[in-house]
Amino acid sequence: MSTEIVGHWIDGAEVPGRSGRAADVFDPATGKLARRVALAGADEVERAIGAAAAAFPGWRDTALSRRTRILFAFRQLLDEAKDELAAVITAEHGKVLSDAAGEVARGLEVVEFACGIGHLLKGGFTENASTDVDVHSIRQPLGPVAVISPFNFPAMVPLWFIPVAIAAGNTVVLKPSEKDPSAALFMARLWQRAGLPDGVFTVLQGDKEAVDGLLEHPSIKAVSFVGSTPVAKYVHQRASAAGKRVQALGGAKNHMVVLPDADVDITADAAINAGFGSAGERCMAISVVVAVGDVADRLVPAIAERARGLRTGDGRRGCDMGPLVTAEHRDRVAGYVAAGAEAGAEVVVDGREVVPDADGSGFFLGPTLLDRVTPDMTVYTDEIFGPVLSVVRVETYAEALALVNGNPYGNGTAIFTNDGGAARQFQHEVEVGMIGVNVPIPVPVAYYSFGGWKDSLFGDTHAHGAEGVHFFTRGKVVTSRWPDENHRGLNLGFPRND
Ligand code: NAD
Repeated sequence: MSTEIVGHWIDGAEVPGRSGRAADVFDPATGKLARRVALAGADEVERAIGAAAAAFPGWRDTALSRRTRILFAFRQLLDEAKDELAAVITAEHGKVLSDAAGEVARGLEVVEFACGIGHLLKGGFTENASTDVDVHSIRQPLGPVAVISPFNFPAMVPLWFIPVAIAAGNTVVLKPSEKDPSAALFMARLWQRAGLPDGVFTVLQGDKEAVDGLLEHPSIKAVSFVGSTPVAKYVHQRASAAGKRVQALGGAKNHMVVLPDADVDITADAAINAGFGSAGERCMAISVVVAVGDVADRLVPAIAERARGLRTGDGRRGCDMGPLVTAEHRDRVAGYVAAGAEAGAEVVVDGREVVPDADGSGFFLGPTLLDRVTPDMTVYTDEIFGPVLSVVRVETYAEALALVNGNPYGNGTAIFTNDGGAARQFQHEVEVGMIGVNVPIPVPVAYYSFGGWKDSLFGDTHAHGAEGVHFFTRGKVVTSRWPDENHRGLNLGFPRND
């Protein structure tokens, strides 16, 4: 039997790849090759962008009421298909089904936010700003825009941008991760059923070649990127140099600060959920627990007991935690555990010994807990992106804060305490974009904006919420006056408002 090759979505239909290049897509729970995905070459990049550019004028000029109705229809279809989409995600990413359904639900929130686009695009109006002169502002779409997404949220991350961009009147070319390309095509079909005109949403499958084509092409007016920090930095520099608007969200190393007064059981539950959910392959995963004072002596055994009780296996079997996305990634993460142990960290729970509930040879690594990690170890300095929770012990709040602020990443962080004053001080002093107070994964709701600081975001605009609407539109201000006898006469001075 020949292996299926996932194609592109251009002009309202799936089209096969023509470059002759393709990449393997695995079922991470069994380790088997599931299908392949086309990798676009230059002429497919041209064709995809051409379709988006051709669709733009018609979509830009489509009445807001009609655009909104299509958003509502897409919202309904996505809600009805959420379990089916979750299964598509689990089959290629590996995360457990309930987690995949959660990702779709969070994406759905952004669609719901974008359904209010009529309100979000309202401009201002000032009557009689100067005598007989009125001023109003409008916001207009940019044109064809590119969204380049990572493997870890094949539905939610694209949905951070696409509903807002489309509702605002842009056309979108999505370049999904080549590791789990099918969710993008699934959503393309839903958009079509919702009544979106052909060409408004395009899927271009591919790797660096497709990305570079999007970054350079003059028709692409803006780029929303999410992925690792080195690629985010590269995308930001290259697209900016090509004159585009760019928001490039990068990697993370999220710290959970635990003060001595925190409830140990609640905190241990939170550390498990945030550290091992999605096998740690979340940009908002907690990877470092910063235990202040004597809390570590109570907290580490509580986390260890819970970690040992987790069931790792095939995400379709009701397990707690699934596999990692590829064999190479699993080996890389296991390498960090070995390096940590070598450097002197105490391996309290060793995921390398896991016996997964799965058939075949999937890419598994069990929950791993390392204690007495120090900031010079690679398990601390590097983004691991796997089920490895490191505990760093410090004496004081000030030391904990210095550790978080000294880290080059600034995506998310959390503080666990019952002391409101300490939490308030932390949210004020910490140099991180998203902060949880007794909330381990503080992903903002869709009407606020998602984004980190420092090496976790290049560009100045966060995703969705008001900042997302602003990113996908540009402003005009109109100053108008209607002919009147009083306006005759020459005056070469700068216009004054009186
Ligand atoms: P990645 O950087 O390898 O890939 C992201 C996208 O860039 C993919 O579409 C990929 O095809 C493309 N790409 C990869 N290498 C490229 C190159 N050299 N030139 C041009 N394009 C390239 O990231 P990933 O492994 O898919 O995803 C995991 C990373 O994403 C982690 O670092 C994680 O923290 C980050 N992430 C961040 C956020 C956030 O909101 N900040 C959210 C999700 C994931």
